[in-house]
Order: sequence, then structure tokens, then C-alpha cells
Amino acid sequence: MTDLHELAAKQVALGETYGLPAADPVNEPMIRHWLDAMGDRNPVYLDKGVAPPAMAQVWTMPGVGRGAKERSPVDEIMAALNDQGFTGVVATNCEQTYHRYARLGDVLTPATRFSGLAGPKRTALGEGYFATWNVTWYDQAGEPVAEMLFRVLKFRPKEKRRPYPLKPAVNQDTGFFWDGVRQGELRIQSCADCGELRHPPGPVCPSCRSANRTHVVASGEGTVYSYVVHHNPPVPGRETPFVVAVVELPEGVRIVGNIVDCPPEEVGIGMSLRATFRAMDDELILPMWAPREP
Ligand code: ZN
Repeated sequence: MTDLHELAAKQVALGETYGLPAADPVNEPMIRHWLDAMGDRNPVYLDKGVAPPAMAQVWTMPGVGRGAKERSPVDEIMAALNDQGFTGVVATNCEQTYHRYARLGDVLTPATRFSGLAGPKRTALGEGYFATWNVTWYDQAGEPVAEMLFRVLKFRPKEKRRPYPLKPAVNQDTGFFWDGVRQGELRIQSCADCGELRHPPGPVCPSCRSANRTHVVASGEGTVYSYVVHHNPPVPGRETPFVVAVVELPEGVRIVGNIVDCPPEEVGIGMSLRATFRAMDDELILPMWAPREP
């Protein structure tokens, strides 16, 4: 693997490297387009035949199919950073210095000097390196017209967890349960009239037929009422074997869930469990069950 700081020192030592002269001299059509695009109505540029200084980069920016002669000492650094996974890029600094106006007919040539690599640094975007370089645009007489310091952060994009493929159906009947799970609560639906608990949630109390409902928060304790060890078929997002259990809660209802943190062969009927909440991806949390410590 390329030592980035070694490569950076080598590129710094190259000093100023000239690129190809601009394909076109400073000209009125490009100035007119630029002023139009920027909404700049200052008449001075077209009246005096000078380019807006902020156009400095415009004259020599290489196209998509840049050739070997248009490569600068920066390209090798960028390639090495990409190779090592620092594929993200964000510009952090752009400081321009103008020595004089570029005039119609000037032919500008860029010269690039790689000036430094700092890092690795931890940033909000991810770990990365700050790369800084300077470009000077020279006219046909070799005099500088404008300069630019440019700095980018090349960062390793944070990996997003792959979304867990099996999403629970969340609707108006079950929303309260999943709201609870996100808060680390195991909620059991209860009848708002007679108080009977029921799980899974349903629209009507099986005891008194009332449609008024609320919920209680379960203690999070339970025991294995029944279980299976699932070996096949494969389940997306899960490693087999895993245990699916019917867990009996002391509150009086049963709930289906996985038993984790326990080899399947150690699971048994009547085993004491406690609820645990597991993040399956960046969004989904599932309630599961683990053996209760003695
Ligand atoms: Zn009821």
C-alpha cells in the first residue's frame, strides 16, 4: 500500500508543474456566458474587455477526457487516497488572489503545486486527509494573473448498516407496540374498559367487545412456553440456527420472539428470560429474549 505521507512529500518536492495552456484565449463569448450564468450585470467587463477575476479557473479547466499532459501533481495523491478507501470528497477551502485582470486575448497557463497532506483526522464525515494545493495562472509573458489555494477533505465514507430485510408491519393497531420498542419498553395492549390484556394487538377486546384500548408496560420478564430451533430454510438477514419461542409473560399473555445470547441446545421449556432490544439496522429495533442471569 502506498505510504500517503511519503507520496505527498514526493509530490511537494516536484514543485510547480505546468499544465497545458488554455484551449482558447480569454474571449468575449465565454465572459458573456459566465456573467449570464452568475447573474452579474456589471457592464465593466464587456465594456473594458476584461474577465471577471473569479473566472480564473474557467479558462484552463480540463474536460472529462483529460489527457496525460493535463495531469497535475495532485492527481496521483487523489488516486492513492481513492485506492485506500478515502473516496469521499468535499472542498473545504478556496482562496483566490488576483494580480491583474485577465484581458481579451490573454492565453493563460496553469501551474499546480501540491503543498501538503494532513491526516488521518477524524471528522464528522469520517476519517480522512486534508490535501492542499496551489494553482497559479500565468499569462503569455509568464507573469502571474491569478492564484488559488484549494483544500479538500478526502474521507472514508461511513458505512451504513445494510437494512434488515424483514420489516414488521406497523399500522394503527400495532404502532404503540413499536413506539414502545424504540423506547426500550415492551408494551401490551389492554382494554380501556375491562382492563384485560391481549397480545398480539387487535381492534376489539375479546372479553367485553369494547373497542377502547390502551396499553401497559410489561416487566420484561418471561419464561419459555414453547420453542422451535429454526435450521432451514435460510432467512434473509439471519444466521441459522436460531430459536423462535413463545414466551409467557407474568402479566398473563404470550408473545413470540427470538431467544438470543444462548446456544439453541441450552434452551428449554420453563427457562427464565428477560426482554432485550436489538438494533437490526440503523432504524429497526426488535424485541428479543435472553436468558435471565441467576
Ligand atoms: Zn374489555
